[in-house]
Amino acid sequence: MHDFSRRGFLKTSAAIAALGAMPSIATSCLRPTGTPHPAAKGGKLQMRFYHRENELAHTFTISGFSRDVTQIILVEISYEGVTGYGEAALPPYMAGQTVETATAFLNKVDLSRFDDPFMTDDILEYVDAIEPGMSCAKCGVDIALHDLIGKLCGLPLWRMWGYNPDKTPCTSFTIGMDSREMIIQKTLEAEPYKILKVKLGSTEENDKMIISTIREVSGKPIVIDANQGWKDKYYALDMIHWLAERGVKMIEQPMPKNVYDDMAWITEQSPLPTYGDESCQRLADVAKLHGVFDGINIKLIKCTGLREARKMIETARGLGMNVMIGCTTETSCATSAAAQIAPKVDFADIDGNLLISNDCFDGMKIVDGKITLNDRPGIGVIKL
Ligand code: MG
Repeated sequence: MHDFSRRGFLKTSAAIAALGAMPSIATSCLRPTGTPHPAAKGGKLQMRFYHRENELAHTFTISGFSRDVTQIILVEISYEGVTGYGEAALPPYMAGQTVETATAFLNKVDLSRFDDPFMTDDILEYVDAIEPGMSCAKCGVDIALHDLIGKLCGLPLWRMWGYNPDKTPCTSFTIGMDSREMIIQKTLEAEPYKILKVKLGSTEENDKMIISTIREVSGKPIVIDANQGWKDKYYALDMIHWLAERGVKMIEQPMPKNVYDDMAWITEQSPLPTYGDESCQRLADVAKLHGVFDGINIKLIKCTGLREARKMIETARGLGMNVMIGCTTETSCATSAAAQIAPKVDFADIDGNLLISNDCFDGMKIVDGKITLNDRPGIGVIKL
């Protein structure tokens, strides 16, 4: 059960302030500047990390890449005997971010200089400033730190942030590019899920074959990710109209990531809402995409983690834009972290853990297609 005693309330209020959901009013009422947080007991933060491979249930092909495993680095941050877990997935499309470069980066992170885990702004600004890029490794640290402070408070992050767990959307289930036979098999395997996410962006013949094949066996709503695969705006708009007539609900990244003018033209004409994924990496990109796309696709490995993801959601909403949250082929560690902010998004594609065969965490579950948050503290995972 949750600790709703006065001490628990004080701990929670200060923790929420430290997380940025509430300005520092609560914190300043509790303690003079510079004194440790009540739950900070004077120890030092300790971080360790190790490499692992996520094995994929099916060879996964999107426009431009095909793979059977995803390299990951698992991060653990400990404080006074409590450990938070984080994951840095390193899919091949995150250019320059490999096991070697992420390891080199994480070796530069010295968290022993911090003695208060609730100083998340200070800690994560320090990590971000070590060097540019390296968003996946930074994400691993961010998730582990958030999991740690949730555990120290005894509360799930969604509760600390005031998010309603009933408002999580259904997740889509991803179907990569494949042969007609495999498309049928994967569509049938997707039976428990309410929305299909389909990867397009090859030839017109192949893209239409995939959609027509799915429609032979399923009438479910479809969302499309073209992964920058279409190069001509007139062709892209024609395809979007063709897709809209076949029960497609939205289109993600139809054009190359830096093609802003043509993309804005498509968004203006499109019968379906458009979402930018490759075009939208971090917080600074959100305002640039206003008027270019109807919405943004946030992924924790792109934006360095939960701290920045929450700022991106608020910024997008302020601009009147839609928000979706995506993932890569990750364990339940990273998908459970992403699920904490799922109550705040329009679409969710958090099926990464379902696409791997060696998940080493138990976490959030998909129940009747819907992202279902648990009451465990932090990101809500147990290491298996
Ligand atoms: Mg995408």
